[in-house]
Amino acid sequence: MVNQRMYELGSEPSAIRELFAYGLARKEEIGAENVFDFSLGNPSVAAPEAVKKAALELLEMPAQQVHGYTPAPGAPGVRRAIAESLNHRFGTAYSAENLYMTVGAAASISISINALGAPGDEFMVIAPYFPEYRVWIENAGCVCVETPARIGSFQLDIQAIEDAVTERTKAVIVNSPNNPTGAVYPECDLVELANTLRRKQDEYGHPIYLISDEPYREIVYGDTNVAFIPTLFENTLVCYSYSKSLSLPGERIGYVLVPPAAADAADVYAAVCGAGRALGYVCAPTLFQGVIEKCVDVPCNVDAYRENRDALYNGLAKLGYECVAPQGAFYLWMRALEPDAKAFSERAKKHELLVVPSDSFGIEGWVRIGYCVDRAVIDGALPAFAALMREYQA
Ligand code: PLP
Repeated sequence: MVNQRMYELGSEPSAIRELFAYGLARKEEIGAENVFDFSLGNPSVAAPEAVKKAALELLEMPAQQVHGYTPAPGAPGVRRAIAESLNHRFGTAYSAENLYMTVGAAASISISINALGAPGDEFMVIAPYFPEYRVWIENAGCVCVETPARIGSFQLDIQAIEDAVTERTKAVIVNSPNNPTGAVYPECDLVELANTLRRKQDEYGHPIYLISDEPYREIVYGDTNVAFIPTLFENTLVCYSYSKSLSLPGERIGYVLVPPAAADAADVYAAVCGAGRALGYVCAPTLFQGVIEKCVDVPCNVDAYRENRDALYNGLAKLGYECVAPQGAFYLWMRALEPDAKAFSERAKKHELLVVPSDSFGIEGWVRIGYCVDRAVIDGALPAFAALMREYQA
């Protein structure tokens, strides 16, 4: 009666959603302050005041201007503002015509995959990876090829990537700062990746694209540098979102950038418009296109995430947990205390700790702890993590 694949996608359990739902029910039972829910990536920092001000100003404008359709790829004003902001920050020369506004990074990536891939083409993901990549790749009739990151540092394994590229490789999806590991890829590794892909392009005689999924671009700590990948590798499409940097996940606003230097850029941009049309991702929310036009250079407030990161990382390390020191995003990646991360997550639940097993992200033996939470959650959770450790040591 219905499309079987869609039925499965809509009804199959998701570890993250289930944990979150469990957390809500548990909070009802024993009080919110007694449940330490690290399951989601919902920003805990409020959207900047400038966003509210811009939205209120826009709501005073004639209704059609605020609520009417814009052109399918987005209003020229916001696309111009984003291009100018990128040019200012990264020394590029983009224009409005290189940008396609979307309903967040999810749409940006899905559009990019559909724009580039024909059925049977391969898209490479670096495991552990954001689980929806596989859904979008397979829905485009393409093949999801998992290549592991280096276990321990969770940095790129360039040799593994090189070995996994085939004649059918259309693109490699990279995500730095990374969800779920918090790793940020250093520029030297990205340069090496670019050189590898260029060699492979020469070998196979066609472009191989990088899709840079970067909703966490501004969320970094200390002096960590986030390279702007199109300046290192010309065939890069950028998928950006304001969900995290401006704490606007519910407003669904982001973009795809097709740099003019990318191979077949005009065709790729036309295909992005085509994919947007085919997938129904036309005219991103007009009000929030307007907000972004006004707020494009509003800085991201990372102070609370930094404090959370320091408290959680130092606290867990002191207890003896093996953690990857997060350089960016708001996730901490920790080795489970037994090889079966799902079993570990279940035992953590007994201590009211909700952590996502790494199986959801394509590898075994680790958990993701989302620290985009109130500081009190971390302070309350550390004694529970201590008790969990003692239980394993007993
Ligand atoms: N990519 C990564 C790595 C993410 O973590 C997320 C959201 O958590 C997305 C894409 C989707 O972002 P959006 O909410 O903007 O669609």
